[in-house]
Amino acid sequence: MFLVYSASPISRGCVNGLFQPLTADRAATARRYVMFTLAINWRECFKIILPLHTMKRAKTTQAGPSKKATKKQEGNRKDEPKDSQESSEEEASTSKASFASKPDYQNFDQFLTHLEVQRFSTADSIKEFSFRKKRVRVLSKNEDVKESSKGGVVYWMSRDGRVQDNWALLFAQRLALKLELPLSVVFCLVPKFLNATIRHYKFMMGGLQEVEQQCRTLDISFHLLIGPPVERLPEFVKTNDIGAVVCDFSPLRLPRQWVDDVGKALPKSVPLVQVDAHNVVPLWVASDKQEYAARTIRNKINSKLNEFLSEFPPVVPHPHGSGCKRSKPVDWPAAYAKLQCDMDVDEVQWAQPGYKAACEQLYEFCSLRLRHFNDKRNDPTADALSGLSPWLHFGQISAQRCALEVQRFRGQHKASADAFCEEAIVRRELADNFCYYNEHYDSLKGLSSWAYQTLDAHRKDKRDPCYNLEELEKSLTYDDLWNSAQLQLVREGKMHGFLRMYWAKKILEWTATPELALEYAILLNDKYSLDGRDPNGYVGCMWSIGGIHDMGWKERAIFGKVRYMNYQGCRRKFDVNAFVMRYGGKVHKKK
Ligand SMILES: Cc1cc2nc3c(=O)[nH]c(=O)nc-3n(C[C@H](O)[C@H](O)[C@H](O)COP(=O)(O)OP(=O)(O)OC[C@H]3O[C@@H](n4cnc5c(N)ncnc54)[C@H](O)[C@@H]3O)c2cc1C
Repeated sequence: MFLVYSASPISRGCVNGLFQPLTADRAATARRYVMFTLAINWRECFKIILPLHTMKRAKTTQAGPSKKATKKQEGNRKDEPKDSQESSEEEASTSKASFASKPDYQNFDQFLTHLEVQRFSTADSIKEFSFRKKRVRVLSKNEDVKESSKGGVVYWMSRDGRVQDNWALLFAQRLALKLELPLSVVFCLVPKFLNATIRHYKFMMGGLQEVEQQCRTLDISFHLLIGPPVERLPEFVKTNDIGAVVCDFSPLRLPRQWVDDVGKALPKSVPLVQVDAHNVVPLWVASDKQEYAARTIRNKINSKLNEFLSEFPPVVPHPHGSGCKRSKPVDWPAAYAKLQCDMDVDEVQWAQPGYKAACEQLYEFCSLRLRHFNDKRNDPTADALSGLSPWLHFGQISAQRCALEVQRFRGQHKASADAFCEEAIVRRELADNFCYYNEHYDSLKGLSSWAYQTLDAHRKDKRDPCYNLEELEKSLTYDDLWNSAQLQLVREGKMHGFLRMYWAKKILEWTATPELALEYAILLNDKYSLDGRDPNGYVGCMWSIGGIHDMGWKERAIFGKVRYMNYQGCRRKFDVNAFVMRYGGKVHKKK
């Protein structure tokens, strides 16, 4: 059972009180402050000055084309924020309206400026924004923040490694602004995490270095604590007299255990609050049970997008100090020296870590590849996918931001924009749903009974050939397409989405048992893929090998009724030879 916010009686220091409108006085002070800081920041922001009409459009057309909608929005900024229920219709019109016309940016710098404009035209800060209270749940018994706490509010960043477009940090800032308390961000770096390699650590830590810099410019202190959260975070909270902890959300076993452990170890007086900053529709709002398939969750999600697919307000410079004795710059080389991971699988060149690189990927996708997404996304020789999954996995960009920006092109590329949202919202959030509600998300115990029974019935079928892990890892199969896909994974830390399905299904065909097949697929995916250890990965492997979210097909050897894929089918879909030439997979002799 989880607690969702309810509109209970509030005190000023109660986290629930955050959803209350500000008093007129406080709103006016806030507005004066924000206008002052914005005056400084906007000048900075617009050093690369966009043509004036672009800014005008951002405030009118993009944030709402009809005068009525614009007036409403302005009204909302000038007056008190309404409570979240009241304003949902308003946001709905805003978000739909935003999609009406293609944005004007011409290059990447203008794209970054466009993002800033979007945020500042949504609200001056999170304080003036009607925060969706359903994004938040209180995990502790206590919900009252000690207002005299010197350390203020801390955002324990874990899954969502970014500053802007992060509902968890926005909520933490809202709490800190309301109570006039300091704000800080903490990340607990675990030196060994499942089988993450230096490839993953460099990507994650590169992103965090950018987070540290951004926090500094916003007067928010950033702390990198080395060690498991339960050992480091409660100690940090006590030493620094922290008043409240806000964490983000992951459906996976280990991060959930961390949150549970930290919750138990925190002082009773310190509330622990969780915000789903990864999903557009918070997981606990989308559905309260494991869904059968995309068809059963699609409408549950899409019917709530009017409410949740809103623009983001900005995280603004924090006016109440950082509390935690002005954090020293992080000693990154010392942090790297503490890592105990596989150092052999090193970084890849095509994907640079961090928010800015993520935005560049999104910018290039919107400008160059989106138009081909619908028609060409199952062709591994075409450059039609977003390639965003590494940044999405580490939370360096928000899926909500990606969906918002892609939707602005709906007028030109409707089918592609819709197809992208199906993947980035519905399929991605279905994966979170599966991992959250099925404790066996990475084992055959998690399959539907039809799928388990059919695989079990074919357990003794002859595998010819039958490969071991080393042969698979070194691309030594008789299938040059499979070997090429495996080489792509090892070299680039990524495999094309269509080939991922083929790749995992062949592992089932060539491995002694379905249990081993699932184990090898997860192991190789998590070891080499930059986006590995993600709900999407567990669900992708479970779909391919165990038919989850799928239905039964014609029965055949080894697979039983689980959907089958073969080489000839790939030949019919795309130029297999071209792909093989690109990655150089060989045809090895069958054993
Ligand atoms: C065996 C197997 C393993 C997989 N492992 C991973 C993994 O470790 N991490 C991972 O993020 N995805 C995984 N996927 C899902 C999917 O293949 C990738 O998300 C996609 O290839 C990422 O490339 P992209 O960012 O260019 O995707 P795009 O096609 O551009 O899609 C945009 C985003 O939508 C989401 N998305 C796309 N396809 C799916 C899908 N089928 N299910 C859920 N979300 C999706 C991703 O977040 C993706 O970044 C796996 C799929 C299979 C079959």
